[in-house]
Amino acid sequence: MSSITQGSYPPLLQDAEKERLVQVVKDWTVAHGLTVRPPPAIAGNDTEGILATSAPVTLFPSPFPKSCFEEAKAIQTTYNELYALISQDEEFLTEMVKEVAGGDEFIANLWNVHLRVKKEGYVQNLALGLFRSDYMVHQDDASLQIKQVEFNTIASSFGGLSTQTSLLHKHLAQHEYPLLSSSSSASNLDLPSNDSAAGLAAGLRAAFDAYGPSTLGHPTCVLFLTQTGERNVFDQRHLEYALTSSGPNKVPVFRLPFSDILTHTTLASTPTRQLLYTLPSNPSLVFEVAVVYLRAGYGPGDYPDQEAWEARYQIERSNAVCCPTVLTQLAGMKKVQQVLATPEESNSNSVPSALAKFMPPTAEKTQRLLKTFTNIYPLDTSSSGLHARSLATSPTQCQKYVMKPQREGGGNNFYRSAIPEQLAKIPEEHWNSFILMEIIEPPALANSILRNGKVEVGGVICELGVYGTCLWDQSSGEIKFNEEAGYLLRTKGDKSEEGGVAAGYGCMDSVTLV
Ligand code: ADP
Ligand code: MG
Repeated sequence: MSSITQGSYPPLLQDAEKERLVQVVKDWTVAHGLTVRPPPAIAGNDTEGILATSAPVTLFPSPFPKSCFEEAKAIQTTYNELYALISQDEEFLTEMVKEVAGGDEFIANLWNVHLRVKKEGYVQNLALGLFRSDYMVHQDDASLQIKQVEFNTIASSFGGLSTQTSLLHKHLAQHEYPLLSSSSSASNLDLPSNDSAAGLAAGLRAAFDAYGPSTLGHPTCVLFLTQTGERNVFDQRHLEYALTSSGPNKVPVFRLPFSDILTHTTLASTPTRQLLYTLPSNPSLVFEVAVVYLRAGYGPGDYPDQEAWEARYQIERSNAVCCPTVLTQLAGMKKVQQVLATPEESNSNSVPSALAKFMPPTAEKTQRLLKTFTNIYPLDTSSSGLHARSLATSPTQCQKYVMKPQREGGGNNFYRSAIPEQLAKIPEEHWNSFILMEIIEPPALANSILRNGKVEVGGVICELGVYGTCLWDQSSGEIKFNEEAGYLLRTKGDKSEEGGVAAGYGCMDSVTLV
C-alpha cells in the first residue's frame, strides 16, 4: 500500500461515548497492570507508595502499514546478530569511544570499567542482549519504508506494558467499539498478537539456564538492577512475573536498587568471582546471581559518585551474565549507529565499510538493514563531518535535523533551531561527541490519548519498536539464542519532538495493520 489511509478511523466520539470509553480504559488498565506509579503532581503525599495509575494510552490502536510492520519484525534477528558482532569487536568500539570520549566523561568512565576488567581478565564469556530497534515510517513518493530512529542495547523498556496494551485494544475492539454510533470504521481491525513480555522473559531464561547450577551450593537467581523512584515499575514486574511463571524450573527474581549493589552483593573469593546476593529481608539466604538485568546504569544520573562506578565494576567483573555488558552498552551509542550508516565519501551508494565489516555486503539481509538507515552524519572534521557542521549551524538547514549526544532515556536531544544554539555553547573540539540525524517525518495520523485522566485529541506520530533477544559467547562468537521478541508502538502528539513514555512525552499504543 502506498499511504496510510485513515478514512473515518478512528471514529468521532460523542461526549457520552468518550466518557464510557474512558471509564472502561481506566478500569481495564488498572485491573491488568497497564499502569505506572503516579507523577508527583498526582501522587500528592503518597508516603506509603500505594498508588498506581493508568499508563498514558491511546483510545484506539493506530493504523500501521502491514508491510513495514512485517519487515521490522523479520529483520530483528539480523539486527541482534549485528549488535552481538559489534559487542565482540573491541578494536572497533575502541575507535568509537575515542571519537566521543573527549567531550563525554560518562562514556570515558564506562570505557574505563571495561578496561579495568579486561586487565584482570573477564571470567564470564556469555553476554545477553535484550534489544529494541526503533523505527518511524518514512513516506517516499511511491512507497512506505521503515527508518531506524535508534537501536537500544540497555534497559529497553515497555515490553511488559506493551503486551498489555495490545490486549487492551483487543478487548475494546471486541466489546466497546461495536457499541459506538459510528462503529463501522472500527470493525475488522487487524490486531496482531504481541508476546513482548514473554519474549523478553524467554531471553532472560535462556541466559539463566546457560549459566547452570551454582558450584558453591547456592540457589541461583536473576537480579534486576533498578533506579530509585522508578515510576515504570509495573513494566518491569510483568517481565519478572513472565519469567517466574515460565518453564519447568523456578527462577527466583530479585530487584535491587543500583545504589545498593555494594551493600547487598559481594564477589566470592574464587578464581571465577561468583556474584553473591544476600537477601536483605533474610540475610541467612545467599543466592548466586546467574543473570544481572540492568534497568538502571544507562545514564550519568545513576553514577553520582565513585562508589557507583565501583558498583558497576563489581557487576562487570563478576561471573554473572550481564544484560548488558559494558561493551554491549557502548555498542548502542548513537556514534555506532552513525558510523554504520555513513557511506564512504568516495561512493555514497556503497555499503558503508563499517557495516560491511560485520555483515557480508552483498547479502540480502545486509541490504535489508541498509534500507532502514536514514542520513546520519558525524560532527567531526572529516569531510562528511564538515558538511554536517555547515548544515547544523545554518538557521534554515538545521530545521531538518536532530542532534544527539551519546545518551539514553529521553530528553537529551536537540531539535532544529536548538542545534545551532547548543553548538554555540560547547567548544568546537567537543562537537564530535554528537551526531546529526535527518528528522524522519512519518505521515501524521489522528488519535485520542488518555493521559492522567484527560483525553487529548489530535494529530499523532507513531514510533514502532521491535524487541530482540540474543545470547552469545564473547570469546567463541557462538550465538546461542537469537529471537525476535514482540513489539512496542509509542505514539506522541505531532507537536512534540520527543516520544518517550517514561519521560512524559509519548503514550502506549498498539497497531492495527493496514
Ligand atoms: P533516546 O535514546 O533518548 O531514546 P532517541 O534517539 O530515541 O533517544 O530520540 C528520542 C525521541 O526523539 C525518539 O523517540 C523520537 O520520537 C525522536 N527522534 C529521534 N530521532 C529522530 C529522527 N531522526 N526523526 C524523528 N524523530 C526522532
Ligand atoms: Mg529512544
